[in-house]
Amino acid sequence: MQLNFTVEDDVFRAAAREWLLASVPAAPPPHDGPAARAYALAWLARCHAGGWSGISWPSEYGGRGLSPERLIIWYEEYVRARAPSVLDCTFVALNHAGPTLIACGSTEQKAFHLPKILTGQVIWCQGFSEPGAGSDLASLATTGVVEGDHLVVNGQKIWSSFADVADYQELLIRTAPGFRRHQGLSWVICDMRSPGITVRPIENLAGATHFAEVFYDNVRIPLSNVVGDLHDGWRVAMNTLSFERKTAAIGLQLDLSVKVEDLIALAMPAPGSAMAERLATLRAEAASLRAMTYRTLLRQPATASDGSLVRLCFAELAQRVHRATMDVLGAEALIASQATHDYLESYSETIAGGTAEIQRNIIAERILGLPRVKAA
Ligand SMILES: Cc1cc2nc3c(=O)[nH]c(=O)nc-3n(C[C@H](O)[C@H](O)[C@H](O)COP(=O)(O)OP(=O)(O)OC[C@H]3O[C@@H](n4cnc5c(N)ncnc54)[C@H](O)[C@@H]3O)c2cc1C
Repeated sequence: MQLNFTVEDDVFRAAAREWLLASVPAAPPPHDGPAARAYALAWLARCHAGGWSGISWPSEYGGRGLSPERLIIWYEEYVRARAPSVLDCTFVALNHAGPTLIACGSTEQKAFHLPKILTGQVIWCQGFSEPGAGSDLASLATTGVVEGDHLVVNGQKIWSSFADVADYQELLIRTAPGFRRHQGLSWVICDMRSPGITVRPIENLAGATHFAEVFYDNVRIPLSNVVGDLHDGWRVAMNTLSFERKTAAIGLQLDLSVKVEDLIALAMPAPGSAMAERLATLRAEAASLRAMTYRTLLRQPATASDGSLVRLCFAELAQRVHRATMDVLGAEALIASQATHDYLESYSETIAGGTAEIQRNIIAERILGLPRVKAA
């Protein structure tokens, strides 16, 4: 894919490169907990001070409203500089809670929350999935009952990333009993310090605890925290998921190319060897993922199903890259703790944000036009 950058774009790239060179922290980010929170907020505050926070947000809300071409340049430079992963605990706030508030929130909600997000003062988490509602989100059962000017919330969420260190949660609940499935849901801003909330971190395969179960026991949430209209949460949630699935992960997708090049430099495979062939294939796959990412970003109007295609290719390629890293390191992987950690974390790539099977269903139905599979 050919991108034609202008002279002004080159000037922008030079400014981004210079700032990143001077600003990227030397220490790597902690994996989880309060230390990860402090690191991520400090990095975001530094980005904000340098004019690099909320770069895709409209300027009327404090962002920079950058064009897709400029976003591409920024993230190319970002991964080149080995800046902290974009998938840190500020990810939800910057990439889907903030954009959802911009699209569907009230004037008061925007005025209160958006500046705090952009300047690195708050962490948000997402409370959509439940033990009985993941891929089938519309079957969620956590309830909110209107009492005066509050909702009283009872139930449980699970897999809520960063919930243990979050200030706010984008919480999807059932507020109109009697209505089923997509109807009668509401998207509310939940203050994670409200009485009645219990957060129980879950340890993953890699030993990190960046997601959690969240329990709600008569949690009182002001009705003024409902985003969009009461009982209109499905529409708002689809906005959230579209931000999450479209371009939020561009930094991760471009970073795979850097990881593959680092791996090739580390492996130095003999020409013609099986490893050389495997790494060449990974390099070609990373290049095609990059091209798909650019195409999705530049295509107007972009569609959510394009996002599914990129998301699926990214998730499965990331797993192959981390598997190859383990094979290149061999027994050394046992002491290269970061590589082992990244490899174990990569198992979640084909689950988080919609499983590989669900992405394939979307691609089959919406891109290939295949008939919908009916549940047995
Ligand atoms: C690292 C990570 C972070 C996460 N962060 C969050 C978060 O912050 N907030 C949040 O709300 N959730 C979060 N999740 C949850 C995630 O969205 C769900 O795990 C995901 O949607 C799958 O739901 P489930 O786990 O309930 O699996 P299920 O939906 O029960 O699926 C089980 C299996 O059945 C398959 N399956 C289900 N339905 C179909 C179908 N129709 N066709 C074919 N196969 C099907 C699935 O692909 C899967 O293999 C996170 C998950 C991970 C791994």
